[in-house]
Amino acid sequence: MAVRTRFAPSPTGFLHVGGARTALFCWLHARRHGGQFILRIEDTDRERSTRESVEGILDGLAWLGLDWDEGPFHQSERLARYEAAVESLLASGRAYRCYCSKERLERLRAGQLARREKPRYDGRCRDGARPGADPPAIRFRTPREGETVVDDLVRGRVVIRNDELDDLVLVRADGFPTYNFSVVVDDLDMAVTHVIRGDDHVNNTPRQIHILRALGGELPAYAHVPMILGRDGQRLSKRHGAVSVTSYRDAGYLPEAMLNHLARLGWSHGDQEIFSRGELVALFDIGAVNRAAASFDTEKLDWLNRHYIKASGVERLGEALGRQLAGLGLETHGGPPPAAVAEALRERASTLRQMAEASVYFYRDFDDFDPSAARKHLRPVAGAPLEKLRAALAELPAWTAPDIADAVAGTAERAGIGLGKLGQPLRVAVTGRGVSPPFDVTLALVGRERTLARLDRALDFIRARAA
Ligand code: GLU
Repeated sequence: MAVRTRFAPSPTGFLHVGGARTALFCWLHARRHGGQFILRIEDTDRERSTRESVEGILDGLAWLGLDWDEGPFHQSERLARYEAAVESLLASGRAYRCYCSKERLERLRAGQLARREKPRYDGRCRDGARPGADPPAIRFRTPREGETVVDDLVRGRVVIRNDELDDLVLVRADGFPTYNFSVVVDDLDMAVTHVIRGDDHVNNTPRQIHILRALGGELPAYAHVPMILGRDGQRLSKRHGAVSVTSYRDAGYLPEAMLNHLARLGWSHGDQEIFSRGELVALFDIGAVNRAAASFDTEKLDWLNRHYIKASGVERLGEALGRQLAGLGLETHGGPPPAAVAEALRERASTLRQMAEASVYFYRDFDDFDPSAARKHLRPVAGAPLEKLRAALAELPAWTAPDIADAVAGTAERAGIGLGKLGQPLRVAVTGRGVSPPFDVTLALVGRERTLARLDRALDFIRARAA
């Protein structure tokens, strides 16, 4: 049977890291088996669902390259179908109308809690309801005998006694289906073969199995994937910093780094850390997902991102860097092409935002020299050699890195000083800081005019210091 998986987010917020990992596992399982990946938006909670959230989720999936074959389906557009399904359950006696008032249910619950019992519906309307004035909810008639067995692909066999489950509401008094009901109808209609989702839904599974059977459906396979923790061992949340996938995009991570890290949250293949998309598709095995919680590790993500930045095509890096520079309010027009800057800086940056922050001096004059670099390198002894170098650079027939390197080497030699004694003051003079790519590449990118103007400014600084 063809594999069909679905990702079924509730659009009440961003696509967070945990949701993205679930989506990835669903997508990988479908791709691995040549099956279909379905996207379903679970938006029956009208108060909490928003259009921005739907857009954010689609945006995040697109950025990660998790393309879906069917959908997005919206539950809010399928209400007639849930109504028909609940009618059939009422007709077969598998569901019943419940007229219990909110007050009665609250009293029931409070009493159970006071007696330290598990709160549950007592089944008052199960055998013959007394119609009340208010519209009824519709409850499922959960079998009271026997047990339900779930052979979870991740958690193994889980057995639940049916008398531990109460008669859950399928359709609320306001006519809206509950999560457990709409999910089952959809999984059935969409012929889902593998339900892969977060393990916060594990307790819903036996309930869903009962409803599915009552509707005459075949059981899918279930895989509940473990939750994601922050490095401190607590459930990943806003306290740990960014949790939405698109905020990582905005912070300058490449999607392949994110995808790679997400895949390793709970799944592994030997001790391999780097996986291309193709390798993930070829190797992913939902049955090999670990049942223990996984940790989201920003350092690991940074490491992966450095790897992918080094491996990435320079044009693409340049585009991404250009967006980051624009985000910093820098105008790249008139400066070096971002792709060339990316080429020069790619060995050093963990993120494209870091790269952008390290390349400001290519596009804008800096206000001040870094104080400690200036104290160390813009000293009176550097004045004369820097001045000679300025003259040599002004004369260079062509402004290329090799010509610049020759001019610096020649000047150092004539001045009888080591290359570093000239190169470091030069670097501080032109970039304002003590660290940059090799000075020949840096100067070539900064451009002649800016370089000479900055050397003049550094020479003034040195003179003022000597005076
Ligand atoms: N809409 C549910 C959620 O966002 C997912 C339901 C499911 O995968 O069964 O948690």
